[in-house]
Amino acid sequence: MSSSPAELAGHYDVIVIGAGLAGLTAANQLARTGRRVLVLEQHSKCGGLATWFRRRGDHIFDVSLHGFPAGMIKSCRKYWTREIADSIIQLKRIRFDNPQFQLETTFDRLDFTRLLTQRFGIAPDVVQRFFDAARGMNFYDDQTLSTRALFARYFPGRSDVVRLLMEPITYANGSDLEDPALTYGIVFSNFMDKGVYIFQGGTDKLVRLMRAELERRGVDVRTGMAAERILIEGGRGAGVVVRGRRIESNAVLSNANLKATILTLIGREHLRPEFAEAVETVRLNNSSCQVYFGLRPGVTIEPIGDLIFSSEAPTFDADALCSRQVTSRTFSVYPPELRPGSNRFVVVASMNARYEDWRHLDDGQYEAAKQALIADSTRALEKYVPDVRARIEHAEAATPLTFEHYTRHLAGATFGTKFEGLQVSTDLPREVPGVFHTGSVGIIMSGWLGAINYGVIVANEVESYLHAHVSARVT
Ligand SMILES: Cc1cc2nc3c(=O)[nH]c(=O)nc-3n(C[C@H](O)[C@H](O)[C@H](O)COP(=O)(O)OP(=O)(O)OC[C@H]3O[C@@H](n4cnc5c(N)ncnc54)[C@H](O)[C@@H]3O)c2cc1C
Repeated sequence: MSSSPAELAGHYDVIVIGAGLAGLTAANQLARTGRRVLVLEQHSKCGGLATWFRRRGDHIFDVSLHGFPAGMIKSCRKYWTREIADSIIQLKRIRFDNPQFQLETTFDRLDFTRLLTQRFGIAPDVVQRFFDAARGMNFYDDQTLSTRALFARYFPGRSDVVRLLMEPITYANGSDLEDPALTYGIVFSNFMDKGVYIFQGGTDKLVRLMRAELERRGVDVRTGMAAERILIEGGRGAGVVVRGRRIESNAVLSNANLKATILTLIGREHLRPEFAEAVETVRLNNSSCQVYFGLRPGVTIEPIGDLIFSSEAPTFDADALCSRQVTSRTFSVYPPELRPGSNRFVVVASMNARYEDWRHLDDGQYEAAKQALIADSTRALEKYVPDVRARIEHAEAATPLTFEHYTRHLAGATFGTKFEGLQVSTDLPREVPGVFHTGSVGIIMSGWLGAINYGVIVANEVESYLHAHVSARVT
């Protein structure tokens, strides 16, 4: 509900800033333990980057519904509802098409073992040791080993193998070969467990079901309401300011961008200089561009695959993947049965992108760059659907500026921050008691699954804090 701050209660146990998947999941967890929770979302709808939009002609486009690991089923069953978990289905046809190889896979350990041994000629014991090493990685491991060094250890000189193993993960969380190997190992192993999954029914259905569950548990969810500031009183989080009005709470949990939360919503004056310095040095992760294609009514496309990693670049190059002159992209194909609500086929091209490449363009250059993105993506799609141009009714581009505009994420960061952000996020309640951060951060906590799971982890910390510091529980 979009409303005025005057309608809000004057006091809550917890105020959650931001209704992304992490914020919503944390709110749900806290409501389950009997806490009185307010969710404030600045945008007109919940979901954050898990979002969708409609266009004239009955087109509906999903923004970040491309694929996540099977672990989502368990997390949604445990922390949300059976209906949400039961809507998750596998994407069976994952395609790679690049100058080094063309193949199709179910993207799980069994099939990757087959490909690596039979197609790429790697010895079975090397493949097994690599999978075991990746699976065994965790947060407490050696953080100095890079993903590049990990690959060099198992597959020296094999740029084709590196591409197969790395390119999808770079799209999935913005990581590159210089990031700690454990960020790769954790995320890659999550996918290899059972393959790639998707939510059948569209993001609007998911968010509708989540909102219904929150409302059933009495969570006060308000859209169109930005938190302007986090109140710090007596050195502790004490509420937020919304349109100039104080709303008090015993704890505040921010799902907004990590750096924006600490440097803008809290403010340096409440931080030790060493902590402020640590926050400053956290690197934001990259942003994205997308092109959304809505097909004409009644038009279908042949089964070209569910998710295609398409590239014309000679080898894997994380930097080139972000370039405005991009030659690599993923295509997600949505037939009406996967994404109901309209009877149109939809194809979405997704690309990694650098905010810096887009922010200085004037209006004319920006519009021209978006048109170039649409033209390039249409040409690339024609490789799989030769006369697709004639079937497209609506084409539209999103850029890092679009993501920044709708979510307020600094530099339109798609996956939060690089690895060091996770430490800052977890340290925040020690620096400013009663203020917590959750959401896409540190590579391993990003994506739909990472965000949901991190929401639960931080909600449990909020609960412990409330238990220890606030005796009265509002029921
Ligand atoms: C193009 C694209 C494709 C993606 N594809 C996939 C994919 O296929 N699979 C996958 O798993 N992940 C994908 N992701 C990533 C995934 O969508 C995100 O990692 C995840 O949704 C982030 O959730 P979050 O909880 O961190 O917060 P976000 O979704 O980032 O939400 C944060 C919320 O906080 C709100 N907010 C910010 N400031 C304030 C304020 N001051 N007051 C009130 N509200 C505020 C924002 O409006 C937003 O709603 C993709 C992302 C993008 C952009």
